[in-house]
Amino acid sequence: MPITNVEELNPESRAYLESLVDQLITEQKRVGTPSPLWCLYCGSGNNPSRCTCGVKIFGCSEPFVNACSDCMSAHKKVARHLAKMFSFPKSNRVDSRRHAYFKQTVQAAEKIDGNLFRELTKTEAWTDGDTVFKQRVLASFRKANFTQFQSLARGIAEQEDAYVLRSIGRFIRSVG
Ligand SMILES: [Zn+2]
Ligand SMILES: [Zn+2]
Repeated sequence: MPITNVEELNPESRAYLESLVDQLITEQKRVGTPSPLWCLYCGSGNNPSRCTCGVKIFGCSEPFVNACSDCMSAHKKVARHLAKMFSFPKSNRVDSRRHAYFKQTVQAAEKIDGNLFRELTKTEAWTDGDTVFKQRVLASFRKANFTQFQSLARGIAEQEDAYVLRSIGRFIRSVG
């Protein structure tokens, strides 16, 4: 019989669950508020330190902003994806890799944060010049006050996997 009611739990389990919920609520309230004591992005108080991702626009170079190791590694993953995207030139070809990377970013954002999604979609990966494109994409994160980098890093990884699988599928069909 699965437990459907918290009342059915033994006192120890119940106390543990309640402390877990308390912790989550506390962490949620901290998100977006800079402090040396917690991670700006997820609120975790677990060893926050200065972020070393090097992307100023994510906000981590601001004073009193610290990040936990999970958010820091997510910053680095997202930054790597964006750097790769910016390295491809503007192209009007259907197989533009810049556009493919941009689409992965936008689709991942859509599932996580409506604000970031809206800001990103104001960017035009097809027509914006290289500098404007980069500025607009990076500014989107600040304008949306985006904090959920762990979810975004996971979402982008899923989109990348799906992209690779589709490419393999296309290749198989083309030789088949
Ligand atoms: Zn964090
Ligand atoms: Zn960072």
